[in-house]
Amino acid sequence: SGLTPAVLKKYKFVFLGDIAVGKTSIINQFMYGTFDQTHQATIGIDFLSKTMYLDDRTIRLQLWDTAGQERFRSLIPNYIRDCSVAIIVFDISQRSSFNSLEKWVQDVRNERGGDVVIMVAGNKIDLVEKRTVSPEDCEAKARELNVQYMEVSAKTGANIKQLFKALAQELPLAQ
Ligand code: GDP
Ligand code: MG
Repeated sequence: SGLTPAVLKKYKFVFLGDIAVGKTSIINQFMYGTFDQTHQATIGIDFLSKTMYLDDRTIRLQLWDTAGQERFRSLIPNYIRDCSVAIIVFDISQRSSFNSLEKWVQDVRNERGGDVVIMVAGNKIDLVEKRTVSPEDCEAKARELNVQYMEVSAKTGANIKQLFKALAQELPLAQ
């Protein structure tokens, strides 16, 4: 219909966080509604696109997975450049991935200053019995780092759609 713009506004979402926290799994759950127990091969292309229909507009998301850049931190700035949103994932059953949050946030702020929405996602909440960080500690850390926080499970799909919906609502209209 004439109401649909020919070119949708695009927003780059980058996924950061330690290895094996579930970045690729979150993307796959959101894109395809599937989950794989094995370590997911990182998406072989630069990004996946998805159209999101919001109440007041339709937008195009570009989801950039991290293809092993976790190990090559010098590549991270390039990857973060011109992103609208950084989703920093950690695994609630792996304390070390929680301890890394600060440095990931620092990487994003070094590159983007305040011009970016940062969301920390505590993944694998289905592993509640293996939880190593309490929800209260996670929320306190997010406040300290001045970022948003949500808990998700790429396995069950819990809160995955809500995560992207919440982020979409934060996007500046003119960017
Ligand atoms: P990445 O390295 O951050 O991209 O992590 P992957 O998406 O490859 O996931 C690493 C491992 O964690 C794989 O074995 C996944 O099946 C598993 N995994 C990812 N998300 C979840 C989750 O929400 N719950 C559970 N139980 N396992 C998960
Ligand atoms: Mg991956």
